[in-house]
Amino acid sequence: MSIAGGISLSLDRGRDLDCRTIQIFTRNATQWKAPPLSEEEVLSFKNMQKQTGISPVVVHDSYLINIASPDPGKLAASLKSLQEEMERTEALGIPYLVMHPGAHMGAGEEEGLLKISRSLNDLHKKTSGFSMKILLETTAGQGTNLGYRFEQIERIMASVIEPERLGVCVDTCHIFAAGYDIRTSQGYEETVNSLVALFGLEKIRCIHVNDSQKEFGSRVDRHEHIGQGKIGLTAFRCLMKDPRFLNVPKILETPKGDNDDMDRQNLDRLLKLA
Ligand code: MN
Ligand code: MN
Ligand code: ZN
Repeated sequence: MSIAGGISLSLDRGRDLDCRTIQIFTRNATQWKAPPLSEEEVLSFKNMQKQTGISPVVVHDSYLINIASPDPGKLAASLKSLQEEMERTEALGIPYLVMHPGAHMGAGEEEGLLKISRSLNDLHKKTSGFSMKILLETTAGQGTNLGYRFEQIERIMASVIEPERLGVCVDTCHIFAAGYDIRTSQGYEETVNSLVALFGLEKIRCIHVNDSQKEFGSRVDRHEHIGQGKIGLTAFRCLMKDPRFLNVPKILETPKGDNDDMDRQNLDRLLKLA
C-alpha cells in the first residue's frame, strides 16, 4: 500500500479496501537515502493503526539492499540501510520486516549463504532487544538470487545465532517460478508439507499471494492478477481454505493499475475462494 503523503495514509488506503493487514515500504524503495522518521509521523501512524484496527502491518525492505554482496562497498551500504529499515520498523511498532535473502553476484551459492548469515548476525548484534523480526522471503531465483529452495532459507537460519528473531515469508508467485508445483491440490499439499517439515508452522509469518505471469520453473519473477496467470485458481483456493494459515497475514503484490479497482477485484476473488 502506498505511503504517498505520509506513512499513516497507507492505513487509510487499506481501510478503504477493507484490508485487515497491509504491507508498506517505510521509504522510497529505489533510493539509498531516507529522511529519518519524525516523532510526529510515528505518532500519527500509531493513532491511525488504532483507529483502523489493521494488524499486523508488514514492512518490505528496499530493493537496493543485498546482504550477500561480495562487493565490500555495496555490502556496507546494504548493512547500514537494512539496519535503518529495522530501526524504522521497530519505531513504528511493526512486527515484521520482509526481505529477500540476497544475490551472490557470481561468488557462488555457498559463499552467498554464509555471507547472509554473517550479515544477519551482525545486524542482530546492532539491534539487540528489538522485538521486530526479519522475515526471509522465498524467491523466484532470478539471476543469482538465493532463497529459491526452502533448504537455502533453512540453512541461513541454522547458522544464525538468534534464529528466533527470524521468520519466513512465502510468495506463491516466487515458489511457483522457482519450481514448486502448486497447481494441483496434491502439489499444494506436498509443498506446504515440506515448508512445515522444514521450518515448523510457527515460522511462517506472512504469505504473499500473487499469480505468476511466467511459466512453472521459469525462475522469472513477474506477478500477475489472481486467476490471470499460470498458477490457476486451485492453488489459491487451497491456500485460502487452509486452516493452518487462517491467522497468517496474506498480502497481495499484484500489479497496481491506475486506481484501487484491481486490488478490489483480486481481494474479492480470494474471498470468494475462501
Ligand atoms: Mn519481496
Ligand atoms: Mn513477494
Ligand atoms: Zn516477486
